[in-house]
Amino acid sequence: MPTHFSRLSLLALVLSFTWTCSELPTEDSHSSVPFLLKVSERIYTGGQPKTAGDFQELQALGIKTLVNVDGARPDLSLAKSYDMSYVHIPMHYDTVEPIVLLSLQRVLQERPGPFYIHCHHGKHRGPAAAALAWRMDEDVSSEEALSVLRRAGTSKNYPGLWREVEGYQSFPSTVALPPLFEVAEVGGFTRLMAEIDRTWDHVKMLKSHNWQGSSLHPDIQPQQELSIFRQQFEDAEKLAKANPAYSEDLDFMDSLGEVIALSEELESAFQKKNVSRADSILNSIRQSCKECHRSYRNGKIETSMEPKSKKKTDAEWEMTLTPEQYHILREAGTEAPFTGKYTDTEKSGTYCCAGCGSELFQSAHKFHSGCGWPSFYLPFHEGAVTEVEDLSHGSIRVEIQCTTCEGHLGHVFEDGPPPTGLRYCINSGAILLKETP
Ligand SMILES: [Zn+2]
Repeated sequence: MPTHFSRLSLLALVLSFTWTCSELPTEDSHSSVPFLLKVSERIYTGGQPKTAGDFQELQALGIKTLVNVDGARPDLSLAKSYDMSYVHIPMHYDTVEPIVLLSLQRVLQERPGPFYIHCHHGKHRGPAAAALAWRMDEDVSSEEALSVLRRAGTSKNYPGLWREVEGYQSFPSTVALPPLFEVAEVGGFTRLMAEIDRTWDHVKMLKSHNWQGSSLHPDIQPQQELSIFRQQFEDAEKLAKANPAYSEDLDFMDSLGEVIALSEELESAFQKKNVSRADSILNSIRQSCKECHRSYRNGKIETSMEPKSKKKTDAEWEMTLTPEQYHILREAGTEAPFTGKYTDTEKSGTYCCAGCGSELFQSAHKFHSGCGWPSFYLPFHEGAVTEVEDLSHGSIRVEIQCTTCEGHLGHVFEDGPPPTGLRYCINSGAILLKETP
């Protein structure tokens, strides 16, 4: 009986695959670029260009700017040799965050077109981002924008992508646009670790499906995710080797080397279809990451404000922070309303963590909330701050911590202004303003 059942599921899988193939956009199916689709005169979408043939085809279309919305690292030098530049805006499958939309808007405003907006496969996130960019660029209707997803064969299992494309609202022109990165690692080690975290979630999901792709998540394919996972650790090693603060720390480099070796083994166990081996390697990776985070996550970061160090003890924090900073950051304290030095500040610059110097918020996203604490509607970049459920004081609130040093910053509420509707209510004592000269 089980054999019959699995044969049937296999048949269903094959059928669903055939079905998916028949839905491919027909007009460009002779193309070398995977799933290439023309959205407008200025916007194209599809999968990641890999070969010289792919780039030649994009060049023939006049493409000047490539936008990668996938987590993987694209081939920058190949792109450059075809006179194209890259912008990296990694996005999720379940929603499109305001910072992604604002970054896309900046690309359309400042970079030369036509644009090729791609994810890895070219069916889900890439087309969704391209449809959104089209709405920003030409003010097209929801229906027209959704037709891009239909033509691309975007899965309905990503309702967040469909919803965002359908419900897109333009931002007021006063909203400041975020910085653009060629590769997300420009944002540093912390950002890379946040990406690894995201891939880790995908890898865990694959394990729960016995290392097979799931029809619920058609874009998360084992081979692809495991190779991204390994590449991200290799990128981390490259970044670490270039920075003496990491490279001179032999324990740290050892841990990184160990996890790279494990991620290679994981890939090979998967290729050999050795499920139990893959499970046990994943456990070793989990253990290794846990130990490394315990020793390094706190305080081990790139910052101009603080010397590099291993995780600090309470006593060390006490020595480097003022009593007020210590109370807020390390004991989750709250300053009295209307007493903090930044509540009404309108100076422009970047607000950094007072504990570790990480960039947390921009003055351009600060607003007068009247609540008595400095308020922002957007963090500096995705991953700069971490949300933690806070059950203290008899209510459920969402605490905001600095992702790098886990210092307590304040809370986030859903009564902020457009475009995000969020209010990051932050203690002045937890941040320092690095003024723009
Ligand atoms: Zn911090």
